[in-house]
Amino acid sequence: MNNYISKVLEEVRRKDAHQPEFLQAVSEVLYSLEPLVAVHPEYEEMSLLERIVEPERTVIFRVPWVDDNGKVQVNRGYRVQYNSALGPYKGGLRFHPTVNLSILKFLGFEQIFKNSLTGTPIGGGKGGADFDPKGKSDAEVMRFCQSFMAELYRHIGADTDVPAGDIGVGGREIGYLFGYYKKLMNEHTGVLTGRGLSYGGSLVRKEATGYGLIFFVKEMMKIKNYNLNGAKVVISGSGNVAIYAHQKATAYGARVVAMSDSNGYVYDKDGIDLDVIKQIKEVERKRISEYVARRPGAKYIEGCKRIWEVPCDVALPCATQNELDLEDAKTLIANGCKVVGEGANMPCTMEAAYHFVNNGILYAPGKAANAGGVATSALEMAQSSQRMFWSAAEVEKRLEDIMVNIFRSANAAAKEYGQENNFITGANIAGFKKVADAMIAQGIV
Ligand code: NDP
Repeated sequence: MNNYISKVLEEVRRKDAHQPEFLQAVSEVLYSLEPLVAVHPEYEEMSLLERIVEPERTVIFRVPWVDDNGKVQVNRGYRVQYNSALGPYKGGLRFHPTVNLSILKFLGFEQIFKNSLTGTPIGGGKGGADFDPKGKSDAEVMRFCQSFMAELYRHIGADTDVPAGDIGVGGREIGYLFGYYKKLMNEHTGVLTGRGLSYGGSLVRKEATGYGLIFFVKEMMKIKNYNLNGAKVVISGSGNVAIYAHQKATAYGARVVAMSDSNGYVYDKDGIDLDVIKQIKEVERKRISEYVARRPGAKYIEGCKRIWEVPCDVALPCATQNELDLEDAKTLIANGCKVVGEGANMPCTMEAAYHFVNNGILYAPGKAANAGGVATSALEMAQSSQRMFWSAAEVEKRLEDIMVNIFRSANAAAKEYGQENNFITGANIAGFKKVADAMIAQGIV
C-alpha cells in the first residue's frame, strides 16, 4: 500500500481505536484512493488526507425530556460537521438506540463524498441521538425533538448546516424539529430538508432515496445488458428507502419477493404487496410479521439476516450498516444473484463488498447509489431559496439525471484508474477529487 495512506490510516487507528464503524469507512475510502494519491504528491505535502479524516467540528449535548408518566429522561445528542469545502454541511439526523460517535463519524465521512458525487453545492455532516422513537407517543417524540432542537439550533442554519432525516427521523420528526427551530429563531428558512409539502418541502423528497437507488441500478445493469423487467428482487428493511425502492423497481417490471425489519423477514412468492407494507409500516407503525395475516400465501421468518438466503437476481440492502457479511455474499452468489445495490449506508462489510466486485457481480456502493435522497434535499434547498415549487415530474427528472450522472462519473473514474467495473474505487475517486480540489483552493483552514 502507498506509504502516505498507510501512515494516515495508522494515525487514525491510533487516535480512534474505539470507533470501529468510523475506522471501517475510512479504511474503505483510503484504500481505494491509492491510484489517485500515487499521481498527486501535493496531497501529502498539504496533509490533505489528515485534514479530510478530521471533522471540522463535533458537538455533543444533553437532551433532557419528560415522558408521558412525568419521568425525566436523558439522551445524548450529536452533530458532526465534517466538511464544508463544497457548501453548507448537509446530512441526516438518526434517532436510534445504537447511535454513538463512531457511527455518526462514519456516516458524516461517507456523506462528504456522496454529496460531492451529486454535483450539488453541499458539504458533509451527520447527527442524531441515542433516542428510540419506537413505542413512544407522538407527544413524547415532540418533546424529545423540541429539547434536541433547543441545543442544535445554535449550530445550524440555511447557509451553515442543513440536517434532514435518516433512520428513525421521518416526516413527523422533521415537522417537530422545524417547528421548534422556527419558534426559537423567528425565521421560516430552509434549515431542514424533508419538510412536509405544506411548509416548504419538495415533491418526491420522500421517495427520492429509493427511486434514486433504482435509477442508479438500472443504469449500471445496462453495462451487462441485464434488465430489471422480470428480475426477482430482495430488499432488506421496510422503512423509507426500502419502500420506495420497491415502488420504483416494481414500476420497471421487477418482482420484489422479500422485505424485512429488525425482527425478521417476509417472503411472498407472488411479489410483496406494497400497499400492505405501507399500511403496516407508515400508517400503523407495526412489525412486518403482521404482513402474513393480511396475505395468507406469504411466510414470516424470524431473524432479519436470513433474508439473504432467499434466491434473487438483484439484492438491495436498505436497512442498516454491516447487515450483509461475507457469508451472506457467498450465499447470494451461490443462489444466482448478479446485482447488488446499496440503499443503506455501508450495509455490506468490506469483505462482502470486495467479494462481489472480485466475482463479477455488479455492485453499487451506497455512497453513490443512495445519493438520491441528499440530491433531492439539495433540490429542496434550491426551491426554498427561490420560494418556488417544482412539479413532481420536474424533480423526478432532475433526480434521474443526477443518478445517471453519478453512475457515469463512477464508471469513468474506475476506467481511468484501471479498475473497470469497480464502482467502489470509481465512486470514491470521483467524489474525493472534487473535495480535494476545493480544499486546496481554499488554503489551510
Ligand atoms: P427507516 O427508519 O425509515 O427504516 C429503517 C429500516 O431498517 C426499518 O425497516 C428498520 O426496522 C430496519 N433496521 C434498522 N436497524 C436495523 C438493524 N439493526 N437490523 C435490521 N434492520 C434494521 O430508515 P431509512 O429507510 O431512512 O434508512 C435506511 C438506511 O438508508 C440507513 O442506512 C440510512 O442511513 C440510509 N439512507 C437513508 C436516506 C434517506 O433519505 N432516508 C438517504 C441515504 C441513505 P425496524 O423498524 O425493526 O427498526
